Amino acid sequence: MKKIVIAIDGFSSCGKSTMAKELAKKIGYIYIDSGAMYRAVTLFALENNIIADNGNIDVEKLKSMMKDINIEFRLNPETHLPETWLNNKNVEKEIRNMRVSNNVSKISAIPFVRHKMVELQQKLGEKKGIVMDGRDIGTTVFPDAELKIFVTASPEVRAQRRVDEMHSKGEDVSFEEVLENVKSRDHIDQTREESPLKKADDALELDNSHLTIEEQDKWLEKHFNDIINS
Ligand code: C5P
Repeated sequence: MKKIVIAIDGFSSCGKSTMAKELAKKIGYIYIDSGAMYRAVTLFALENNIIADNGNIDVEKLKSMMKDINIEFRLNPETHLPETWLNNKNVEKEIRNMRVSNNVSKISAIPFVRHKMVELQQKLGEKKGIVMDGRDIGTTVFPDAELKIFVTASPEVRAQRRVDEMHSKGEDVSFEEVLENVKSRDHIDQTREESPLKKADDALELDNSHLTIEEQDKWLEKHFNDIINS
């Protein structure tokens, strides 16, 4: 069967990764969370005092240390899901905390960070058979992807989903704090100069504010099958 590239872009916490993971599992494709890569760079920057307490970034220091950042995805033998490793350490959980979330959009707006991540992402997709989610996958990373999706939902719906997810993992966050983070990341992601978040002209748009997870999975699978059978 022919293998394709599936690019799923959209706003923060709009459920992209949930649908991307589910489809990849169903069709036997590799799933890559490109946001996890920017989060891993941000964690590295926090751990190496590249980000000051006031949020200022020492861009020159980060540039000189980019060669020391090694990001990999390794399959968890129990869940069979890919997990993010930074310099031989499993950081899958740590990269989701609020400290990383509050700094990641500034780090991911830096051109040399993006260039390195995009190069890595393109390598991972060389053999096709991949579902990748992010902000610029359909526009910059894989402009020739056979299936492109752009997902949206209202900021309030997205913040509530994120709060529920974090609470279920035992993290103590407030709705207001998360809503503020979601809105601020949307703004930085859409207004940065280097590959800003925007819908690719040939992407299919999905507003999932009022859809269940099962409904959105069905929608995505139908579009995948349409392409495979065409
Ligand atoms: O997808 P997630 O919300 O985990 O991504 C974290 C951040 O990484 C985003 O807010 C965005 O700033 C950045 N990102 C990006 N390009 C991507 C994926 C994520 O700039 N392809």
